[in-house]
Amino acid sequence: MRRSILLTNVTFPVSPAANITNVTGGDHVLLAVVVTHPTAIDTLGLSGAATLDNSLRNISAERALSAGGVINAKSFTTQAEVLADAYQIDHPLIEIFYTPGSTSINVWAQSATPISRGTIRINTTDPTVDPITDPQYLVEEADIQVAVAAARRVSSIAVTPPFSDLLTPTALADSGTPAVGASDEVVRSWVLQTYTAGTHPIGSNPMMPRELGGVVSPELLVYGTTNIRVADASIVPLSVFPHTTLGLYGVAEKAADMILQAVEA
Ligand SMILES: Cc1cc2nc3c(=O)[nH]c(=O)nc-3n(C[C@H](O)[C@H](O)[C@H](O)COP(=O)(O)OP(=O)(O)OC[C@H]3O[C@@H](n4cnc5c(N)ncnc54)[C@H](O)[C@@H]3O)c2cc1C
Repeated sequence: MRRSILLTNVTFPVSPAANITNVTGGDHVLLAVVVTHPTAIDTLGLSGAATLDNSLRNISAERALSAGGVINAKSFTTQAEVLADAYQIDHPLIEIFYTPGSTSINVWAQSATPISRGTIRINTTDPTVDPITDPQYLVEEADIQVAVAAARRVSSIAVTPPFSDLLTPTALADSGTPAVGASDEVVRSWVLQTYTAGTHPIGSNPMMPRELGGVVSPELLVYGTTNIRVADASIVPLSVFPHTTLGLYGVAEKAADMILQAVEA
């Protein structure tokens, strides 16, 4: 049972970031965190969105199996299809954050719904010791396509008025972010070297059918048990939005209702 709980697919949203420094306007121009959620077509254009769609719909089930056998191939390919369908109806592809500092603006982008899957394994019999996690960021080509497009979007924002008017002319270059005209190879290499994790890990105990590798039922019960429920971010099988907390309030409310019903029955 322990094994089935801890050896499963895990999603770690990840972020290519550009720290754009040398803001000309000082703190008079730095007002608040601003967030935008471009769609696949917004971010990649029609042809790039079609390429991403193709990558997701033809994702290799073998890749799932090669990740130590911990990712169920059927759930992996199904999740990729769900994402492809969602992007077709304009689900956000990435999130772009503008975070003001006193003399800088961080502009960074994170994938809303990465498809790369990692692993989490028991490390020791001591329950206070963290398990071994291997997020396998960007192991899927589809995620690299998204990250490259996100990086390009960040670069183009930095040089587009009126936002660019807030920056010194060399701000983008000083940040180390690839220039707008940089080749795909350059942007790809930069992304692979600079990618960092978001703080929204999910999916180590996914709510899915058991035969797809799920760990908890729709009633939040761990399969094979009668009274062990999981009510946290680990039950989310697929990232649907860059942030987790909103949905987790819903999980907590439902969990409370189900536990009360079970107690009162
Ligand atoms: C720096 C940071 C920034 C974030 N920013 C955002 C954001 O802007 N928006 C957003 O939506 N999400 C954000 N997140 C993600 C969000 O906080 C998490 O996804 C969410 O809190 C996960 O909820 P959870 O209930 O699964 O776990 P947690 O919120 O981690 O709750 C687990 C609880 O269990 C307790 N606990 C652990 N072990 C034991 C034990 N043995 N006995 C008793 N209690 C125990 C812990 O103290 C903790 O209170 C951020 C996360 C981080 C780290």
